[in-house]
Order: sequence, then C-alpha cells, then structure tokens
Amino acid sequence: MRAELVMIGTELLLGEIVDTNATFLARNLAGLGIDVFFKSTVGDNLQRGSEVLAEAVKRSDVIIISGGLGPTEDDLTREIVAEVMHSPLQEDKGALEELETWFAQRYGQSHMPVHNRKQALFPAGSKIIPNPIGTAPGFYLEKDGKMVIALPGVSQELKTMFSETVAPVLAQKGTGQILVTRNLHFVGIGESRLAEVLGDLLHEQSNPTLALYASGGIVRIRLACKAESREEGLEIMAPVEREIRSRTKEFLYGTDGQSLEEVAAQFLVEKKLTLALAESCTGGLIGHLLTNVPGSSAFLNRGYVVYSNQAKVDDLGVRPETLEKFGAVSEQCAREMAEGARDRAQTDLALAVTGIAGPTGGTPDKPVGLVYISLASAGDTIVQRHVWKGSREQIKNRTALMALRLLWQLSAT
Ligand code: ATP
Ligand code: MG
Repeated sequence: MRAELVMIGTELLLGEIVDTNATFLARNLAGLGIDVFFKSTVGDNLQRGSEVLAEAVKRSDVIIISGGLGPTEDDLTREIVAEVMHSPLQEDKGALEELETWFAQRYGQSHMPVHNRKQALFPAGSKIIPNPIGTAPGFYLEKDGKMVIALPGVSQELKTMFSETVAPVLAQKGTGQILVTRNLHFVGIGESRLAEVLGDLLHEQSNPTLALYASGGIVRIRLACKAESREEGLEIMAPVEREIRSRTKEFLYGTDGQSLEEVAAQFLVEKKLTLALAESCTGGLIGHLLTNVPGSSAFLNRGYVVYSNQAKVDDLGVRPETLEKFGAVSEQCAREMAEGARDRAQTDLALAVTGIAGPTGGTPDKPVGLVYISLASAGDTIVQRHVWKGSREQIKNRTALMALRLLWQLSAT
C-alpha cells in the first residue's frame, strides 16, 4: 500500500510555520509499515489544490490531506476532494447537530456562526472522522480503489484524529506487517568515527536496516525492520544491537526517547549522590536541562550562575590571583569553581563550566569556543578542555551536553 501526503496551507509555502504535521504523519505511517513515496505542499487555492490531489490519486492508494477543513473561505479541502473524486458535497445531519451542540456548550444559547455550517459538508460517500477536541470533523472517502483522508491542520487535532480513527483503519488495510524501530543514542563520538567502527554492519544491513543521524553533538542510530509484531521486531534486531553495544559501550548512553540528562539524573538518584552546579558560559542551561527531569530535587542541591569574575570570587571563593594570573576561562578557574561549589553546597559532586561562547571575545591562545568543564568529587577533581566550533547557542548547548556526559560517565567507573 502506497500512501502520499498533501499538505494544504499558504502559510506553509510562505515559511511562516513548520510542517510538523507531515513529520508526524510520515513517522506514524512508517510505524504502520506503509510506504510513503510522495509529499506535496500546496497553498489555499482550489485549482492548484485539485491539481495536486488529482496527481496524488493517480499514483498512490491512500492520500492523507492536512489542513483546509476550517469554516473560512480559504478552507477548501472539502471542495477539492469533492471535485477530484467526483463526489458532490452533502450536508450531514448528525455532524451539523454536533457542531450546533459544540457551539451551544461553549457560547451558551448564541447561534453558531453561519460559516461553520460548512463544516458539516462532506463529499458523498465519506465516512466522518470525529474530532474530539475541536470543531472540524475530518472524513475519509473510499472510491475506485483509492482512499482520500482529510484531517484538520491544527496539530493537536490532527494527531488525535489520526491516532484514534485513521491508524486503526489503515492498520486493517495493510499487509499486517509493521515497521519496528529502535534508536540508540551516542555522545562523545562523531558520526564518521561511529560509521567507521560499525562499517561492516552498516554495509551488510538488510533486516534490520541501520541509519545514522547526527545533530547537536548527539549521534543516533536507527534500527528498523518489518515484522508481525513489535516483540518479533525487537527479537530480529537484538543480535545487531548487542554487536553495536559491544563495540561502542563508552559512547552509547540511551535508547529511544531517553535524553542524556535523564540518564545522568537516573544514575545520581540510584547512587544517592547530590550535586551542585557552577555555571558561567552556559548561564544556567545545565540546571535547566537537569530540572526538566521529574524528580531532580532528589539530587540537585543548587546551581550558581557565576557570570562575572566578582561572582566567581564572592559565591564560590575562586581566588582573585587565579583570575588575574590565568583568567576566568582556564583550567585553574574551572577547578576552583567546582571545588568551591562542592564545598559551599556540601554536596557529593559539583560540576563547573567556564568558556568563551562568542561570537566575540576570543584571542589567539583563547579562541571562541574554548571551554573548561570540571567535576569535583570526594577524592578528586577532573578538568576537561574542549574547543567547540559553532554559534553562541551551539557552543552553550555542546558545553552543557559534555558536562552532562561527565556525570553519566561516572556510572561506568
Ligand atoms: P482551522 O479550523 O483552524 O482553519 P484547518 O483544518 O482549516 O483548521 P488550517 O487553516 O490549514 O487548518 O491550519 C490551521 C492552523 O493549524 C495553522 O494556522 C497552523 O497553525 C496549523 N497547521 C496547519 N498546517 C500545519 C502543518 N502542516 N504543520 C503544523 N501545523 C499546521
Ligand atoms: Mg483554516
């Protein structure tokens, strides 16, 4: 079964919004084992919309349309489907009543705007897709071996309606096989190095297939295979995953939805370790990431955001001589920040970062992107030096990531 996406909305073509609906639909169709070979985007225009749908109907079995189901004049999906599928619009009494009830419940006795009546029109022969969280119901029409599905553009509505109604209908029509995927996340190793280490596996792949993705300092490997069930898929993938793990242990921190901060937090909670943060160039980002993890109060004692030299001295006891002699971006300063934070907060661990996020402020021996990360623990303080390339934001993100990596690496020692 071949599916195709038709995204309707002039704001998509103007670049005003990001097409997250397409991402959602594509990912979920893949999960159902349905191939998607085409995706088109077209503005709110009857003629161009019809051209695109007519083309899609020629080459695909299932077409999913996103957007254009609202009550206004530029919402044209109903008209487009009616024209292309030769199914004139008809008013559905049940849908009209539901719309009226919806408005009455929300706005008391006042009348439904006359425009909204349009939302009870469907191409003849359509089945209605209920919309539990908005006004516009969707619909699907099966005709001449083709299936056209129309969903509203509002993301939350589209997602709910796809999951509750469309996915079960498509699953029934499919081959019975689903696509099972598993993601492995790596930190501290580049994409090309990982590709080298796993070269033979990447080369021989067929079932499961392997794909490598890198972004923001994290590399992800996606394993995917077709199977009758998720359990069967995971079984097929297990030996390959085991082999990958055995070669890349020190870099592989998590699977599927797991983030590095979650994994680091989990370790601290399990070991009952407490943590203080001393952040200069990241301005609180590490604290933000760790406090995104529910239950972080179990280990996170406090975070010092010590941006100025004065703050490093006042809040952490960094020695003025250290700052004078080596500067704030130095191994010595990072070490004193971590030890000072650990001492003042009385925690098991303290993590400190100091660096030059740019774009200005670099010198030949201290370039933009130079960062020191320090971790102080009972018997020992380690300091790492890195030089990152990238924008200010990228340097901050990368620094936070590598600081979290230091915490995670403790779990292996
Ligand atoms: P409405 O009843 O709000 O008019 P609709 O079905 O007519 O719904 P659109 O008018 O096309 O949908 O889009 C409504 C809003 O939904 C857009 O302003 C946008 O915020 C969001 N949206 C539309 N298409 C997409 C998309 N492809 N990806 C993400 N968001 C989208
Ligand atoms: Mg609209």
